[in-house]
Amino acid sequence: MGFKSEEYALPAETTQEELLALVEKLNDKADINGILVQLPLPKHLDDKAVIEAINPQKDVDAFHAVNVGKIMLGEYDFLPCTPAGVMEMLHSYDIQVSGKNCVVIGRSNIVGKPMAMLLLHENGTVTICHSRTQNLAEVCARADILVAAVGKPKFVTADMVKEGAVVIDVGMDRDENGKLCGDVDFENVKDKCSYITPVPGGVGPMTIATLMKNTLKACKLQNGLD
Ligand code: NAP
Repeated sequence: MGFKSEEYALPAETTQEELLALVEKLNDKADINGILVQLPLPKHLDDKAVIEAINPQKDVDAFHAVNVGKIMLGEYDFLPCTPAGVMEMLHSYDIQVSGKNCVVIGRSNIVGKPMAMLLLHENGTVTICHSRTQNLAEVCARADILVAAVGKPKFVTADMVKEGAVVIDVGMDRDENGKLCGDVDFENVKDKCSYITPVPGGVGPMTIATLMKNTLKACKLQNGLD
C-alpha cells in the first residue's frame, strides 16, 4: 500500500517506563501516523496506561478513551478495526441493519461493546450477551444478525441460529486438532443462514483492511487533509 511500517518487538521484561518512552517517541515522530500496541502485554505492564499514552490522533486501533467516547457519541475519527470490518461486510452485501434484531455474543472493549454500538448507530435493536446471560440459545435464536465474539471454538451451534439469519463469526480459535476455527460450528450452521462468514478468511482480513484505512485517515488528519 506504500505505507512505511516500523516494528518494535520488545523483550518481555521491558519496563513500563521504557514502553511509555517508546510510545512518547513515536507520538513525536512526524513520519509516524499510526501506533498500534499489540495486546495482551506481559502482566507487569499496565496496558491501560500504555494505550492512554498514545496520541488519540495516532490511535489507529481506536482503543484510547477519547476515541472510545467519540464512538459512543457517534462522532468518530477512527472505528475499532474488527467491528468496523464487520459493518463494511454488511454494507457490501446490502444487508440492512435498521430495525433488525442484532445479537452480539461477547462484551469485550475491543469487539463486543463497540460492535453493539455500531449496530445501534445503524438502528439495529441490539442485545449484548455474555457469560452471565440466561437462556443464551433462545436469545441468539431470535437474532436476524448474530455476531459471535466469544473466543470458544464452535460455540454457536445450529439450534442457536434462526433460519435465514446472518451470522458473523469473529472468533479466532483452535479446534481439538489445533486447527484455526471460529466461534461458530460452521458446517452445521451454514445451511440454516442466509449469510455466514468463514474462519479463516472472513472477519480477520476485514480487520486488517480497516487498520490500513484508519492509518490513512490518521495521516490525513495529522496533515490537515481531512
Ligand atoms: P474476550 O475479551 O475474551 O471476550 C469474550 C467475551 O465472550 C466476554 O464478554 C465473555 O463474557 C463472553 N463469553 C465467554 N464465555 C461465554 C459463554 N459461555 N456464554 C456467553 N458469553 C461468553 O475476547 P475478545 O477479545 O472479544 O475476542 C473474542 C474472539 O474474537 C476471540 O476468539 C478472538 O481471538 C477473536 N478476535 C478476532 C479478531 C479478528 O480480527 N477476527 C479480532 C479480535 C478478536 P464475560 O464478559 O461475562 O466474561
